[in-house]
Amino acid sequence: MEISGHTRLGGLLGSPVAHSISPAMQNAAFQMLGLDFVYLCFDTGKADLSTIVEALREMNTYGFNVTMPDKQQIMPYLDEITDAARLIGAVNTVKNEDGRLIGYNTDGLGFTRSLKDCGYDLGCGEMTLLGAGGAASSIAVQSAMDGVPALHILNRRSGKSYPNAERLAAAISRETPCRAEVLDLDDPAALCSCLSRSSLLVNATNVGMEPQADATPLKDLAGLHSDLFVYDCIYHPKKTRLLKEAEERGCRTGSGLYMLLYQGAEAFTIWTGQKMPVDEIRRLCFS
Ligand code: NAP
Repeated sequence: MEISGHTRLGGLLGSPVAHSISPAMQNAAFQMLGLDFVYLCFDTGKADLSTIVEALREMNTYGFNVTMPDKQQIMPYLDEITDAARLIGAVNTVKNEDGRLIGYNTDGLGFTRSLKDCGYDLGCGEMTLLGAGGAASSIAVQSAMDGVPALHILNRRSGKSYPNAERLAAAISRETPCRAEVLDLDDPAALCSCLSRSSLLVNATNVGMEPQADATPLKDLAGLHSDLFVYDCIYHPKKTRLLKEAEERGCRTGSGLYMLLYQGAEAFTIWTGQKMPVDEIRRLCFS
């Protein structure tokens, strides 16, 4: 990669960020398309976020990604926020249009695009979503906008995300054609009833992630019927216990690994107006 006097800067804000796969993905894609852009990681740590955002606005950056803990905090410093990001309540991508900062959320788009890749059509049936944190919020909103007719959001009633589940369901039912409801993940009868009406089950909790890869968010497998498509947002491990148990029951499954790829591909398009060469990036960064 050659840095010239014209090279434009962008990158990732958040803390920690050093482990992120985004620099490898984005810089490889810029090089493949001959774009004079570079992507770096900026650990925001205890720094004042508004000062950092103002500097990036003034320095003619093309934009940047935002990760935890800055996805909500950044919103007041932006000039415009898309409807999806507003409903989700978080921004993960910012475009700098001549000093005007526009906030997007591409996590949900990453999910819907990776699901489409698996051959699953969101309009074909109801969806049960486990969890109501950051990933679940973007998946719920984008799925509702992209045609899921009914959405059952399950979170532990005692958990800190339960109020967000209620906020999400109310916003989705009010602002999209989808009917959304909230139920207690710890209620086995409620879970079983939702699964019997659903054709898609999505895990957006942390349960099953390394180093607790032997855990599963489904304590009771009774509701796992073979017509369910089961998707797990977790990408470490690539195949979670939930996905293995679903496959044993004849379900089709999808892994969160490509949600990660496609959220980056959507951000790339927002910044450059071009398509990321996803097949090459998949081979280079995800195999
Ligand atoms: P988050 O905001 O902290 O939300 C975590 C969710 O999991 C909350 O709903 C939480 O409920 C629930 N939860 C945690 N421990 C639980 C337990 N023991 N039993 C039941 N529910 C539990 O995290 P996030 O950012 O949404 O991430 C969630 C998962 O998605 C992570 O595994 C992450 O790696 C993955 N993810 C994947 C992608 C991708 O591109 N593939 C992108 C983002 C995230 P309470 O808060 O109510 O306890």
